[in-house]
Amino acid sequence: MTSFIPYGKQEISEADIAAVIDVLKSDRITQGPAIERFEQAVADYCGVKYAVAVSSATAGLHIACLALELGANDLLWTSPNTFVASANAGRYCGASVDFVDTDPKTYNLSPEALEAKLMAAEKQGKLPSVVMPVHLTGQSAVMAAIAPLAEKYGFRVIEDASHAIGAQYQGKPVGCCEYSDMAVFSFHPVKIITTGEGGMVVTNQDELYQKLIRLRTHGITRDPNLMTESSHGGWYYQQLELGLNYRITDIQAALGASQMQRLEKFVDRRRSLAQRYNEQLQDLPLTLPDQHPETNSSWHLYVIRLQLDQIQKTHQQVFNELREAQIGVNLHYIPVHTQPYYQQFGFQWGDFPEAEQYYREAISIPLYYGLTEADQDRVIQKLREILK
Ligand SMILES: *Cc1c(COP(=O)(O)O)cnc(C)c1O
Repeated sequence: MTSFIPYGKQEISEADIAAVIDVLKSDRITQGPAIERFEQAVADYCGVKYAVAVSSATAGLHIACLALELGANDLLWTSPNTFVASANAGRYCGASVDFVDTDPKTYNLSPEALEAKLMAAEKQGKLPSVVMPVHLTGQSAVMAAIAPLAEKYGFRVIEDASHAIGAQYQGKPVGCCEYSDMAVFSFHPVKIITTGEGGMVVTNQDELYQKLIRLRTHGITRDPNLMTESSHGGWYYQQLELGLNYRITDIQAALGASQMQRLEKFVDRRRSLAQRYNEQLQDLPLTLPDQHPETNSSWHLYVIRLQLDQIQKTHQQVFNELREAQIGVNLHYIPVHTQPYYQQFGFQWGDFPEAEQYYREAISIPLYYGLTEADQDRVIQKLREILK
């Protein structure tokens, strides 16, 4: 029987397992020393001052929005071509969410569309407080074009970098926050490195860092300098605001810290597999991933787009034939504005044509560290057969 090839998969080594077991045998399985080690490893790698580990990227996006005091009278704009979590972060804060259509080449939030929408929004007095670009597939959005707009129109920037740990933009690591207030990584098993569930918020801003560490643990502080009255004793803490329990465990952080040591190896392998797809699929009726010259993707996903006018099959047929051949293709993403939850706010099909056109043609094909060349060849061969 042919084995199933998933579209993404974690890579767990013996060293990872040993790191987790060490924590399990220790006295502190949550809030232990591995969390700081993991945070330090990510901060060092990204060249950023602060890293705050959390229970998921969704949690990280939520507290990043809270740290910027996003609220019911505010607007958050993001890409329609993302996982629902990006937009939901705004909704958790009570903010209204709107979308900026994507670039036809990179599929990321388009800076041109953003500028046009900002000009119109300014006239109506409906400018966003937060814009959240998403580094789709691990390719950075064009941050240098977004940052001047943030300055001009007065919004803050949170990068949804869930796909992009290990990627570079303008030669610097994604997560260095040169053009943003904060960036958020995901460590879900299909992403570049994993902690099971987990995420990380990074920032260079002291004030945001202080808020983030409070917000991940109920809004509680033990810092006497922040308290409204002097300490009652060694047990004393104060809750300064309404935070959450978004802590990661030491068990997970140990796995994350161990995985960080292989980040470059993981990304190198993904890049070489992507290069192989680029070479071997180029003669097929497909649009292959276009890379902006200033980006160096971490290749979380490899997305092909079907040139449907040159194929005698529908998108769904091609997808199904791949699945029937035990190739675990997927689709990233269903445009968020078409979800019933978002349609209740008035969004409809037709609102963001680039993201919708992409959706009609896109398929994510298998790409992960442990994908063998033989399995990759099976994917390539099957695509040839189906598309001939
Ligand atoms: C995976 C993902 C998230 C959510 O990450 P979790 O860690 O699962 O909460 C958010 N945004 C994007 C773009 C993602 O791919």
